Amino acid sequence: MVRRCHVCTERGNPQTSAPLSARVLDRSGALFLRIIPCVVTDDFVGHNKMTENIKKYAPVQQCIYCGATGVELTDEHIIPFALGGDVVLPKSSCKNCAKITGEIERQCLRKILGPLRIKLDYPTRRPKRRPEKLPINIQKESGISSHEVPAKKRPHVTCLFAFNYPGILRDVDPEILELEPVPAMWFNTVKSDQARAVAHSIDPSYKHIESEGWFNPVLFGKMLGKIGHAFAVAELGLGLQGFRALIPDALIGKAPWHNGYLVGGEPDQIVDSKKRLEVRFGRKKLFSGREFGVVRIRLFGHLGAPVYYVVVGEVIKKPGRSLLGRIFRGFK
Ligand SMILES: [Zn+2]
Repeated sequence: MVRRCHVCTERGNPQTSAPLSARVLDRSGALFLRIIPCVVTDDFVGHNKMTENIKKYAPVQQCIYCGATGVELTDEHIIPFALGGDVVLPKSSCKNCAKITGEIERQCLRKILGPLRIKLDYPTRRPKRRPEKLPINIQKESGISSHEVPAKKRPHVTCLFAFNYPGILRDVDPEILELEPVPAMWFNTVKSDQARAVAHSIDPSYKHIESEGWFNPVLFGKMLGKIGHAFAVAELGLGLQGFRALIPDALIGKAPWHNGYLVGGEPDQIVDSKKRLEVRFGRKKLFSGREFGVVRIRLFGHLGAPVYYVVVGEVIKKPGRSLLGRIFRGFK
């Protein structure tokens, strides 16, 4: 949970004002030190469509998570519809897996990204359920009071953490990884003068105006994992063409999910992008010789949001031909 005053943070140096206005605790109780504030102006509002590289993928006819065939299969949005994703992988998820991945996405889209999606006018399947009003806290000398304000005018906080590089690419033991602190996080809000106007209209004697944001790195990491895996299957095909798939078992609970191990990010990413959504596949070879397929994902790149990496597969090593060749030559 994050609470911050929308006026203080923008007014001052974010590093010094953060401990006063943002209370973000890791497991050891220490405050994260680095906060990058970003203002979402009205220029960013509008329907978010992936207009570039639209592809119609062929139906998979098998669940891409558990491998089930001969059952009823649903279509998967590679990036959720609610984030503007309109690329679909037809007949690719069984009902059980769709239930698991659907719940992960529902929580992320509603609880972590809900207010931001409302502000940006992103699509929803249930427009009637979209809240018209949302709460904010007004702090005065005498205490804090809660008030409802129109959802689009509400100063809100959305935090998207910038993760460290995926642990598997750094050869970190997945068991100790969860204790690593998250190195940075990212905020956005309305401009401080808009926040001040909202606070003033409620109570001119206000001292701070705060809203609450929520972030869960496990759920968010799993949502990224799902996007990465679905994209890898769409691009490479089932079986991932010579890669051993790493995401599905952990995603549907058949193997432990170690946060930060397969999913990570660019810890120092602050460069804006013109694109709202970016998904790309690439390969990464380590000094140890292990080679991985990595999907690079950026949601809200036009707002300066972090870049994430999902390690979707490891190259399956076959016995090296050159080595066998040498052995056989030796017998000649
Ligand atoms: Zn399944």
